[in-house]
Amino acid sequence: MRSVSVFGATGSIGESTFDILMRQGGPDAYRVVALTGGRNVARLAAQARALKAEVAVIADDTLLPELKAALAGSGIAAAAGQNALLEAADRPADWIMSGIVGAAGLAPGFRALSHGGTLALANKESLVTAGPLLMAEARAHGARILPVDSEHSAVFQALVGEEMEAVEEITITASGGAFRDWPLDRLAHATVAEASTHPNWAMGQRITIDSASMFNKALELIETHEFFGIDPGRIGVLVHPESLVHALVGFRDGGVIGHLGAPDMRHAIGYALNWPERMHLPVNRLKLAEIGQLTFAAPDPARYPALRLAREVMAAGGLTGAVFNAAKEVALDAFIGGGIAFTAMANVVEEVLSRLSAAGTLGKAAQSLDMVLETDREARRVAVEMIETMQRT
Ligand code: NAD
Ligand code: MG
Repeated sequence: MRSVSVFGATGSIGESTFDILMRQGGPDAYRVVALTGGRNVARLAAQARALKAEVAVIADDTLLPELKAALAGSGIAAAAGQNALLEAADRPADWIMSGIVGAAGLAPGFRALSHGGTLALANKESLVTAGPLLMAEARAHGARILPVDSEHSAVFQALVGEEMEAVEEITITASGGAFRDWPLDRLAHATVAEASTHPNWAMGQRITIDSASMFNKALELIETHEFFGIDPGRIGVLVHPESLVHALVGFRDGGVIGHLGAPDMRHAIGYALNWPERMHLPVNRLKLAEIGQLTFAAPDPARYPALRLAREVMAAGGLTGAVFNAAKEVALDAFIGGGIAFTAMANVVEEVLSRLSAAGTLGKAAQSLDMVLETDREARRVAVEMIETMQRT
């Protein structure tokens, strides 16, 4: 029986993973090792009971008594806190979903890789902050990383049976987010509620807002570079409002293989779970005759400064990605908290990048996970300070 763990089980990716696991036989088909959540005790306990998990971990350690109560009589172990997350990652499993949001997902995923097995990587921040380390960790332990981000799953699928040598270009698509058609001068006044609605995908709030700013696509550019090892200059972004074509791989003979499908993460999650097989999945089938036409456009640099920043980050390399992501997370928190304007997020990130690269050390390759986490903390500190200064002036 295959063993599985789900990190971030209570989130959007986690719920879709739970859905696929249940549909594919649940506890009769899988030995479920660990499920983790951030704060939603009731949901975590319900999932753990349904899947007969061995352990449930809640990240917020003040919630341990509540989790214990919710699991009473089930025989499922309850644990809480950051160390418990790492201990859960130390319990070997054949397949582990990395579905925590943000840099918080890095350490557990890293730890899981050290036990071999397959890491289904939804947490794109892991590759953005520590791509080379993560890939090396997987190689060192004979572990495998399968991409779950829809665009990267699409590229991965288009590359089956192909050689990277023959790839000329990889294009990932973007819906354009909530503000694709807004006049530019309105963006500064966009509210959190307005930024939290996605035209096509139902996702967690943070990635939805990141889609409106295209910080999500910026992270995904870096993710593509790190995962597929392709030069930044050969990765493109195409605005595609219908979100049906997820990625295109162009080959040196002029052929292009694209991946199409309904915007439903259960496809990419199910693909990673069943790989290399394809199993029946409950996603809507494409009816192209009904859809009629697909549209594409180049992204407007003035609307989406995050894309330019991502290219600067890739050119600088090393620890720059960790700074970029951390500053972005802090800026996003500030926007969600009502502290800064939607358009100020990119300014904060750009300023933090320029302040921290002034020392000239950011381009150095990260030697250890600790170095990445230290850089992440430093970038957060600078970003918070910068936002406080902005708010005073
Ligand atoms: P979400 O906010 O819906 O869920 C995040 C999960 O992580 C929850 O279980 C939450 O409780 C947990 N969590 C949050 N902070 C934590 C912390 N500090 N420590 C431990 N656990 C914590 O997010 P999501 O939309 O499911 O996204 C998860 C990851 O997948 C992100 O990296 C995102 O970029 C990526 N992703 C998501 C989608 C999508 O459709 N939602 C698509 C592609 C990639
Ligand atoms: Mg994506």
